[in-house]
Amino acid sequence: MAKEKNLQCSFCLKNNEQVRMMVSGAKANICDECIESAVNIIKQELGSFGDDLPTKDLGLKPTMKFEYKPIDIKTYLDQYVIGQEDAKKVLSVAIYNHYKRLGQQVKDDVEIEKSNIIMVGETGTGKTLLAKTIAKLLNVPFAIADATVFTEAGYVGEDVESILSRLLQAADYNVELAEKGIVFIDEIDKIGRKSDNPSITRDVSGEGVQQAMLKLLEGAEVLVPPQGGRKHPDQKMVKVNTQNILFICGGAFEGIDKMIARRIQSSAIGFKSRNEQTSLDKDNLIQYVNSQDLRSYGLIPELLGRLPVVTYLTSLNADSLRRILTEPKNALIKQYKALFDYEGITLIIEDDVLNFIVEKAIEFKLGGRGLRSICELILTDAMYELPSDKKQKSFTLTLPYAREKLEKSKFAYLKVA
Ligand code: ADP
Repeated sequence: MAKEKNLQCSFCLKNNEQVRMMVSGAKANICDECIESAVNIIKQELGSFGDDLPTKDLGLKPTMKFEYKPIDIKTYLDQYVIGQEDAKKVLSVAIYNHYKRLGQQVKDDVEIEKSNIIMVGETGTGKTLLAKTIAKLLNVPFAIADATVFTEAGYVGEDVESILSRLLQAADYNVELAEKGIVFIDEIDKIGRKSDNPSITRDVSGEGVQQAMLKLLEGAEVLVPPQGGRKHPDQKMVKVNTQNILFICGGAFEGIDKMIARRIQSSAIGFKSRNEQTSLDKDNLIQYVNSQDLRSYGLIPELLGRLPVVTYLTSLNADSLRRILTEPKNALIKQYKALFDYEGITLIIEDDVLNFIVEKAIEFKLGGRGLRSICELILTDAMYELPSDKKQKSFTLTLPYAREKLEKSKFAYLKVA
Protein backbone atom coordinates (compact mmCIF):
# COMPACT_ATOMS: atom_id res chain seq x y z
CA MET A 1 0.00 0.00 0.00
CA ALA A 2 1.41 3.35 -0.95
CA LYS A 3 2.45 5.70 1.83
CA GLU A 4 -0.09 8.43 1.40
CA LYS A 5 0.45 11.38 3.63
CA ASN A 6 -1.70 12.28 6.65
CA LEU A 7 -3.31 8.89 7.11
CA GLN A 8 -4.08 8.15 10.71
CA CYS A 9 -4.97 4.81 12.26
CA SER A 10 -8.53 5.08 13.52
CA PHE A 11 -7.70 2.74 16.43
CA CYS A 12 -4.33 3.80 17.87
CA LEU A 13 -4.19 7.24 16.20
CA LYS A 14 -0.62 6.75 14.96
CA ASN A 15 0.03 8.27 11.52
CA ASN A 16 1.47 6.43 8.56
CA GLU A 17 5.00 7.68 9.24
CA GLN A 18 5.00 5.86 12.57
CA VAL A 19 3.90 2.44 11.32
CA ARG A 20 4.99 0.00 8.63
CA MET A 21 1.69 -0.17 6.85
CA MET A 22 -1.70 1.47 6.83
CA VAL A 23 -4.81 -0.07 5.30
CA SER A 24 -7.47 2.43 4.31
CA GLY A 25 -11.19 1.77 4.22
CA ALA A 26 -14.07 4.00 3.11
CA LYS A 27 -14.12 6.04 6.30
CA ALA A 28 -11.36 4.61 8.48
CA ASN A 29 -7.76 3.43 8.45
CA ILE A 30 -6.04 0.66 10.35
CA CYS A 31 -2.30 0.13 10.88
CA ASP A 32 -0.44 -3.19 10.75
CA GLU A 33 0.02 -3.24 14.53
CA CYS A 34 -3.70 -2.89 15.20
CA ILE A 35 -4.47 -5.59 12.63
CA GLU A 36 -2.14 -7.93 14.49
CA SER A 37 -3.74 -7.17 17.86
CA ALA A 38 -7.20 -7.63 16.35
CA VAL A 39 -6.24 -11.04 14.95
CA ASN A 40 -4.99 -12.13 18.38
CA ILE A 41 -8.20 -10.97 20.04
CA ILE A 42 -10.26 -12.92 17.52
CA LYS A 43 -8.15 -16.03 18.06
CA GLN A 44 -8.54 -15.77 21.83
CA GLU A 45 -12.25 -15.13 21.73
CA LEU A 46 -13.34 -17.54 19.05
CA GLY A 47 -10.63 -20.12 18.94
CA SER A 48 -10.52 -21.96 15.65
CA PHE A 49 -10.67 -25.44 14.38
CA GLY A 50 -8.61 -24.36 11.44
CA ASP A 51 -5.15 -25.52 10.73
CA ASP A 52 -3.78 -25.59 14.19
CA LEU A 53 -4.50 -25.34 17.85
CA PRO A 54 -6.85 -22.63 18.97
CA THR A 55 -4.41 -20.88 21.27
CA LYS A 56 -1.16 -21.87 19.66
CA ASP A 57 0.40 -18.44 19.79
CA LEU A 58 -0.51 -17.87 23.40
CA GLY A 59 1.80 -20.44 24.88
CA LEU A 60 0.61 -23.10 27.28
CA LYS A 61 -2.41 -21.48 28.74
CA PRO A 62 -5.76 -23.09 29.45
CA THR A 63 -8.54 -21.66 27.36
CA MET A 64 -10.20 -19.53 29.99
CA LYS A 65 -13.43 -19.03 28.17
CA PHE A 66 -14.53 -22.46 27.21
CA GLU A 67 -16.43 -21.97 24.00
CA TYR A 68 -16.44 -25.48 22.61
CA LYS A 69 -19.63 -27.46 22.60
CA PRO A 70 -19.45 -31.27 22.76
CA ILE A 71 -20.03 -31.46 19.00
CA ASP A 72 -17.06 -29.14 18.41
CA ILE A 73 -14.83 -31.26 20.62
CA LYS A 74 -15.82 -34.38 18.73
CA THR A 75 -15.21 -32.65 15.39
CA TYR A 76 -11.72 -31.81 16.58
CA LEU A 77 -11.06 -35.36 17.74
CA ASP A 78 -12.28 -36.66 14.37
CA GLN A 79 -9.34 -34.96 12.72
CA TYR A 80 -6.87 -37.07 14.66
CA VAL A 81 -8.61 -40.24 15.78
CA ILE A 82 -10.15 -42.70 13.35
CA GLY A 83 -13.33 -44.54 14.38
CA GLN A 84 -14.02 -44.97 18.11
CA GLU A 85 -17.20 -42.96 17.69
CA ASP A 86 -18.68 -43.84 21.07
CA ALA A 87 -15.50 -43.05 22.98
CA LYS A 88 -15.16 -39.72 21.19
CA LYS A 89 -18.74 -38.79 22.00
CA VAL A 90 -18.50 -39.80 25.66
CA LEU A 91 -15.20 -37.98 26.06
CA SER A 92 -16.53 -34.84 24.40
CA VAL A 93 -19.42 -34.69 26.85
CA ALA A 94 -17.14 -35.44 29.81
CA ILE A 95 -14.71 -32.67 28.84
CA TYR A 96 -17.54 -30.25 28.27
CA ASN A 97 -18.99 -31.01 31.68
CA HIS A 98 -15.57 -30.81 33.26
CA TYR A 99 -15.19 -27.26 32.00
CA LYS A 100 -18.69 -26.36 33.08
CA ARG A 101 -17.73 -27.59 36.50
CA LEU A 102 -14.59 -25.46 36.55
CA GLY A 103 -16.63 -22.35 35.86
CA GLN A 104 -19.43 -23.34 38.19
CA GLN A 105 -20.73 -21.13 40.92
CA VAL A 106 -22.43 -23.50 43.31
CA LYS A 107 -26.17 -22.98 42.92
CA ASP A 108 -28.66 -24.55 45.30
CA ASP A 109 -25.87 -26.69 46.78
CA VAL A 110 -25.65 -28.70 43.58
CA GLU A 111 -21.99 -29.33 43.15
CA ILE A 112 -21.05 -31.00 39.90
CA GLU A 113 -18.67 -33.87 40.47
CA LYS A 114 -15.55 -34.44 38.47
CA SER A 115 -15.94 -36.47 35.28
CA ASN A 116 -12.80 -38.58 35.54
CA ILE A 117 -12.84 -41.13 32.79
CA ILE A 118 -11.89 -44.76 32.31
CA MET A 119 -11.33 -46.14 28.83
CA VAL A 120 -11.34 -49.85 28.12
CA GLY A 121 -9.77 -51.11 24.92
CA GLU A 122 -7.03 -53.24 23.47
CA THR A 123 -3.54 -51.85 23.19
CA GLY A 124 -2.90 -49.58 20.22
CA THR A 125 -6.55 -48.63 19.66
CA GLY A 126 -6.12 -44.93 20.43
CA LYS A 127 -6.62 -44.46 24.17
CA THR A 128 -3.45 -42.42 24.70
CA LEU A 129 -4.01 -40.63 21.43
CA LEU A 130 -7.49 -39.53 22.55
CA ALA A 131 -6.24 -38.22 25.89
CA LYS A 132 -3.31 -36.46 24.22
CA THR A 133 -5.50 -34.89 21.56
CA ILE A 134 -7.87 -33.51 24.16
CA ALA A 135 -4.99 -31.96 26.07
CA LYS A 136 -3.83 -30.42 22.81
CA LEU A 137 -7.23 -28.95 22.09
CA LEU A 138 -7.54 -27.49 25.56
CA ASN A 139 -3.91 -26.39 25.57
CA VAL A 140 -3.42 -27.65 29.10
CA PRO A 141 -0.43 -29.53 30.54
CA PHE A 142 -0.60 -33.25 29.98
CA ALA A 143 1.20 -36.11 31.69
CA ILE A 144 1.19 -39.85 31.05
CA ALA A 145 2.06 -42.51 33.58
CA ASP A 146 1.94 -46.22 33.60
CA ALA A 147 0.06 -47.58 36.61
CA THR A 148 2.40 -50.56 36.75
CA VAL A 149 5.34 -48.42 37.91
CA PHE A 150 3.46 -47.32 40.99
CA THR A 151 3.85 -49.17 44.22
CA GLU A 152 2.55 -48.57 47.67
CA ALA A 153 4.59 -46.12 49.71
CA GLY A 154 7.45 -47.95 51.35
CA TYR A 155 8.06 -50.38 48.48
CA VAL A 156 10.54 -50.13 45.65
CA GLY A 157 8.97 -48.14 42.84
CA GLU A 158 7.29 -44.80 42.39
CA ASP A 159 4.72 -43.17 44.65
CA VAL A 160 1.50 -42.33 42.84
CA GLU A 161 2.22 -38.66 43.52
CA SER A 162 5.08 -38.84 41.03
CA ILE A 163 2.51 -38.47 38.27
CA LEU A 164 1.90 -34.95 39.54
CA SER A 165 5.64 -34.25 39.35
CA ARG A 166 5.41 -35.03 35.66
CA LEU A 167 2.41 -32.77 35.29
CA LEU A 168 4.30 -30.00 37.05
CA GLN A 169 7.19 -30.48 34.68
CA ALA A 170 4.81 -30.34 31.72
CA ALA A 171 3.46 -27.06 33.14
CA ASP A 172 6.97 -25.68 33.50
CA TYR A 173 6.48 -25.71 37.27
CA ASN A 174 3.53 -23.35 37.12
CA VAL A 175 1.32 -24.86 39.84
CA GLU A 176 -1.80 -23.00 38.80
CA LEU A 177 -1.46 -24.34 35.28
CA ALA A 178 -0.74 -27.86 36.47
CA GLU A 179 -3.88 -27.75 38.58
CA LYS A 180 -5.94 -27.51 35.38
CA GLY A 181 -4.06 -30.24 33.56
CA ILE A 182 -4.93 -33.69 32.31
CA VAL A 183 -3.33 -36.87 33.59
CA PHE A 184 -3.49 -40.12 31.65
CA ILE A 185 -2.86 -43.26 33.66
CA ASP A 186 -2.32 -46.23 31.42
CA GLU A 187 -2.52 -49.94 32.25
CA ILE A 188 -4.92 -49.36 35.08
CA ASP A 189 -6.09 -52.95 34.60
CA LYS A 190 -2.71 -54.21 35.77
CA ILE A 191 -3.31 -52.99 39.30
CA GLY A 192 -6.56 -54.84 39.72
CA ARG A 193 -6.71 -57.20 42.63
CA LYS A 194 -6.80 -60.75 41.51
CA SER A 195 -10.18 -61.78 42.80
CA ASP A 196 -13.64 -60.29 42.92
CA ASN A 197 -14.02 -61.58 46.43
CA PRO A 198 -11.94 -59.56 48.89
CA SER A 199 -11.79 -62.42 51.36
CA ILE A 200 -9.85 -64.62 48.97
CA THR A 201 -6.09 -64.16 48.70
CA ARG A 202 -5.60 -60.82 47.04
CA ASP A 203 -2.96 -58.89 45.29
CA VAL A 204 -2.13 -56.47 48.07
CA SER A 205 0.27 -54.26 46.18
CA GLY A 206 -2.21 -53.70 43.33
CA GLU A 207 -4.94 -52.82 45.74
CA GLY A 208 -2.55 -50.64 47.76
CA VAL A 209 -1.83 -48.60 44.65
CA GLN A 210 -5.54 -48.24 43.98
CA GLN A 211 -6.02 -46.98 47.52
CA ALA A 212 -3.19 -44.50 47.08
CA MET A 213 -4.77 -43.23 43.89
CA LEU A 214 -8.06 -42.40 45.59
CA LYS A 215 -6.71 -39.25 47.15
CA LEU A 216 -5.43 -37.95 43.84
CA LEU A 217 -8.62 -38.66 41.97
CA GLU A 218 -11.09 -37.21 44.39
CA GLY A 219 -9.40 -33.83 44.66
CA ALA A 220 -7.05 -33.11 47.49
CA GLU A 221 -4.01 -31.06 48.30
CA VAL A 222 -1.09 -33.30 47.59
CA LEU A 223 2.55 -32.69 48.41
CA VAL A 224 4.58 -33.37 45.33
CA PRO A 225 8.33 -33.75 44.99
CA PRO A 226 8.94 -31.35 42.07
CA GLN A 227 11.78 -33.38 40.60
CA GLY A 228 9.88 -36.64 40.87
CA GLY A 229 11.14 -39.77 42.54
CA ARG A 230 10.53 -40.76 46.10
CA LYS A 231 9.55 -38.29 48.76
CA HIS A 232 12.65 -37.39 50.61
CA PRO A 233 12.88 -35.59 53.96
CA ASP A 234 15.26 -32.97 52.55
CA GLN A 235 13.39 -32.33 49.37
CA LYS A 236 11.25 -29.23 49.09
CA MET A 237 7.66 -30.21 48.32
CA VAL A 238 5.16 -28.36 46.18
CA LYS A 239 1.51 -28.36 47.12
CA VAL A 240 -0.77 -29.28 44.22
CA ASN A 241 -4.53 -29.30 44.45
CA THR A 242 -5.96 -32.07 42.29
CA GLN A 243 -9.55 -30.89 42.45
CA ASN A 244 -9.63 -29.62 38.88
CA ILE A 245 -7.19 -32.02 37.33
CA LEU A 246 -8.91 -34.36 34.95
CA PHE A 247 -7.82 -37.98 35.26
CA ILE A 248 -8.25 -40.30 32.33
CA CYS A 249 -7.40 -43.94 32.91
CA GLY A 250 -6.93 -46.58 30.26
CA GLY A 251 -6.47 -50.30 30.19
CA ALA A 252 -6.75 -53.30 27.89
CA PHE A 253 -8.66 -55.40 30.47
CA GLU A 254 -7.89 -58.53 28.55
CA GLY A 255 -10.60 -61.13 28.91
CA ILE A 256 -13.17 -58.69 30.28
CA ASP A 257 -15.59 -59.77 27.57
CA LYS A 258 -16.13 -62.97 29.50
CA MET A 259 -17.15 -60.99 32.55
CA ILE A 260 -19.44 -58.83 30.45
CA ALA A 261 -21.01 -61.94 28.92
CA ARG A 262 -21.55 -63.48 32.33
CA ARG A 263 -23.20 -60.35 33.67
CA ILE A 264 -25.43 -59.94 30.65
CA GLN A 265 -26.41 -63.58 30.76
CA SER A 266 -27.35 -63.48 34.41
CA SER A 267 -29.20 -60.18 34.17
CA ALA A 268 -30.99 -61.29 31.03
CA ILE A 269 -32.77 -64.09 32.80
CA GLY A 270 -36.24 -62.99 33.63
CA PHE A 271 -35.72 -59.39 32.55
CA LYS A 272 -35.16 -59.24 28.84
CA SER A 273 -37.51 -60.35 26.14
CA ARG A 274 -36.22 -62.77 23.57
CA ASN A 275 -35.99 -59.98 20.98
CA GLU A 276 -33.72 -57.90 23.13
CA GLN A 277 -31.40 -60.80 23.70
CA THR A 278 -31.00 -61.53 20.03
CA SER A 279 -29.98 -57.94 19.27
CA LEU A 280 -26.90 -58.41 21.42
CA ASP A 281 -23.72 -57.99 19.39
CA LYS A 282 -21.77 -60.99 20.65
CA ASP A 283 -18.64 -60.26 18.65
CA ASN A 284 -18.21 -56.89 20.22
CA LEU A 285 -19.16 -57.30 23.86
CA ILE A 286 -16.78 -54.57 24.98
CA GLN A 287 -19.38 -51.98 24.00
CA TYR A 288 -21.52 -53.09 26.95
CA VAL A 289 -18.75 -52.66 29.54
CA ASN A 290 -19.76 -51.01 32.81
CA SER A 291 -18.35 -50.36 36.27
CA GLN A 292 -19.57 -53.71 37.53
CA ASP A 293 -17.40 -55.53 35.00
CA LEU A 294 -14.40 -53.44 35.98
CA ARG A 295 -15.08 -54.35 39.57
CA SER A 296 -15.16 -58.01 38.64
CA TYR A 297 -11.82 -57.42 37.01
CA GLY A 298 -10.36 -56.23 40.27
CA LEU A 299 -10.78 -52.49 40.52
CA ILE A 300 -12.03 -51.49 43.94
CA PRO A 301 -15.44 -49.81 44.19
CA GLU A 302 -13.99 -46.67 45.78
CA LEU A 303 -11.73 -46.16 42.78
CA LEU A 304 -14.54 -46.82 40.34
CA GLY A 305 -16.68 -44.32 42.20
CA ARG A 306 -14.11 -41.69 41.35
CA LEU A 307 -14.01 -42.70 37.70
CA PRO A 308 -17.68 -42.21 36.86
CA VAL A 309 -17.38 -42.07 33.07
CA VAL A 310 -16.74 -45.46 31.50
CA THR A 311 -16.18 -45.85 27.79
CA TYR A 312 -14.63 -48.35 25.41
CA LEU A 313 -12.54 -48.56 22.27
CA THR A 314 -13.06 -51.28 19.71
CA SER A 315 -10.20 -53.18 18.15
CA LEU A 316 -9.10 -51.77 14.83
CA ASN A 317 -10.02 -53.66 11.69
CA ALA A 318 -8.18 -53.51 8.37
CA ASP A 319 -10.30 -50.66 7.13
CA SER A 320 -9.59 -48.49 10.21
CA LEU A 321 -5.87 -49.29 10.12
CA ARG A 322 -5.72 -48.32 6.49
CA ARG A 323 -7.47 -45.03 7.26
CA ILE A 324 -5.08 -44.37 10.16
CA LEU A 325 -2.17 -44.58 7.75
CA THR A 326 -3.40 -41.77 5.55
CA GLU A 327 -6.34 -39.82 6.96
CA PRO A 328 -5.58 -38.16 10.31
CA LYS A 329 -4.12 -34.67 10.25
CA ASN A 330 -0.73 -35.99 11.23
CA ALA A 331 -1.14 -39.42 9.60
CA LEU A 332 1.98 -41.57 9.42
CA ILE A 333 2.21 -41.50 5.64
CA LYS A 334 1.86 -37.70 5.66
CA GLN A 335 4.70 -37.55 8.18
CA TYR A 336 7.01 -39.73 6.07
CA LYS A 337 6.19 -37.71 2.96
CA ALA A 338 7.08 -34.54 4.86
CA LEU A 339 10.36 -36.07 6.05
CA PHE A 340 11.33 -36.98 2.50
CA ASP A 341 10.18 -33.59 1.33
CA TYR A 342 12.73 -31.94 3.61
CA GLU A 343 15.38 -33.72 1.57
CA GLY A 344 13.83 -32.52 -1.66
CA ILE A 345 12.61 -36.04 -2.45
CA THR A 346 9.03 -36.91 -3.39
CA LEU A 347 7.94 -40.09 -1.68
CA ILE A 348 5.47 -42.14 -3.69
CA ILE A 349 3.87 -45.12 -1.98
CA GLU A 350 2.04 -47.65 -4.09
CA ASP A 351 -1.41 -48.65 -2.91
CA ASP A 352 -0.64 -52.32 -2.36
CA VAL A 353 2.15 -51.33 0.05
CA LEU A 354 -0.43 -49.71 2.32
CA ASN A 355 -2.50 -52.91 2.28
CA PHE A 356 0.62 -54.92 3.03
CA ILE A 357 1.47 -52.74 6.04
CA VAL A 358 -2.08 -53.15 7.36
CA GLU A 359 -1.97 -56.91 6.82
CA LYS A 360 1.24 -57.18 8.83
CA ALA A 361 -0.07 -54.96 11.64
CA ILE A 362 -3.06 -57.28 12.00
CA GLU A 363 -0.92 -60.39 11.85
CA PHE A 364 1.33 -59.10 14.60
CA LYS A 365 -1.53 -57.84 16.77
CA LEU A 366 0.12 -54.52 17.38
CA GLY A 367 -2.93 -52.35 16.68
CA GLY A 368 -2.28 -48.82 15.47
CA ARG A 369 1.06 -48.86 17.21
CA GLY A 370 2.34 -51.56 14.86
CA LEU A 371 1.85 -49.39 11.80
CA ARG A 372 4.66 -47.11 12.83
CA SER A 373 7.11 -49.92 13.63
CA ILE A 374 6.41 -51.53 10.28
CA CYS A 375 6.83 -48.28 8.34
CA GLU A 376 10.10 -47.62 10.14
CA LEU A 377 11.46 -51.04 9.27
CA ILE A 378 10.52 -50.63 5.63
CA LEU A 379 11.78 -47.09 5.24
CA THR A 380 14.88 -46.95 7.45
CA ASP A 381 17.31 -47.91 4.69
CA ALA A 382 15.87 -45.32 2.33
CA MET A 383 15.94 -42.67 5.04
CA TYR A 384 19.53 -43.62 5.79
CA GLU A 385 20.83 -43.54 2.23
CA LEU A 386 18.81 -40.95 0.35
CA PRO A 387 19.89 -37.78 2.22
CA SER A 388 23.43 -38.34 0.88
CA ASP A 389 22.23 -38.87 -2.68
CA LYS A 390 21.93 -35.39 -4.15
CA LYS A 391 20.62 -36.61 -7.52
CA GLN A 392 17.56 -38.52 -6.39
CA LYS A 393 14.40 -36.43 -6.62
CA SER A 394 11.79 -39.08 -5.97
CA PHE A 395 11.48 -42.44 -4.31
CA THR A 396 8.76 -44.96 -5.12
CA LEU A 397 7.97 -47.51 -2.47
CA THR A 398 6.86 -50.70 -4.18
CA LEU A 399 5.47 -53.91 -2.72
CA PRO A 400 8.54 -56.07 -3.53
CA TYR A 401 10.80 -53.46 -1.89
CA ALA A 402 8.59 -53.29 1.23
CA ARG A 403 8.42 -57.06 1.49
CA GLU A 404 12.15 -57.45 1.15
CA LYS A 405 12.96 -54.84 3.77
CA LEU A 406 10.52 -56.30 6.25
CA GLU A 407 11.72 -59.85 5.73
CA LYS A 408 15.31 -58.82 6.29
CA SER A 409 14.45 -56.91 9.45
CA LYS A 410 13.90 -58.13 12.96
CA PHE A 411 10.18 -57.84 12.45
CA ALA A 412 9.45 -61.48 13.15
CA TYR A 413 10.50 -60.89 16.73
CA LEU A 414 7.98 -58.09 17.25
CA LYS A 415 5.06 -60.46 17.19
CA VAL A 416 2.86 -60.31 20.27
CA ALA A 417 2.64 -63.73 21.85
P1 ADP B 1 -3.29 -47.21 23.32
O1 ADP B 1 -3.09 -46.07 24.28
O2 ADP B 1 -4.75 -47.56 23.13
O3 ADP B 1 -2.46 -48.41 23.61
P2 ADP B 1 -2.23 -45.36 21.40
O4 ADP B 1 -3.23 -44.26 21.50
O5 ADP B 1 -0.93 -45.13 22.09
O6 ADP B 1 -2.84 -46.73 21.89
O7 ADP B 1 -1.99 -45.69 19.86
C1 ADP B 1 -0.71 -45.92 19.33
C2 ADP B 1 -0.59 -45.24 17.98
O8 ADP B 1 -1.42 -45.89 17.03
C3 ADP B 1 -1.05 -43.79 17.98
O9 ADP B 1 -0.01 -42.90 18.25
C4 ADP B 1 -1.57 -43.60 16.59
O10 ADP B 1 -0.52 -43.33 15.69
C5 ADP B 1 -2.11 -44.95 16.22
N1 ADP B 1 -3.56 -45.10 16.50
C6 ADP B 1 -4.12 -46.02 17.31
N2 ADP B 1 -5.45 -45.93 17.29
C7 ADP B 1 -5.76 -44.91 16.45
C8 ADP B 1 -6.99 -44.34 16.00
N3 ADP B 1 -8.17 -44.80 16.42
N4 ADP B 1 -6.92 -43.30 15.14
C9 ADP B 1 -5.73 -42.83 14.70
N5 ADP B 1 -4.54 -43.35 15.07
C10 ADP B 1 -4.54 -44.38 15.93
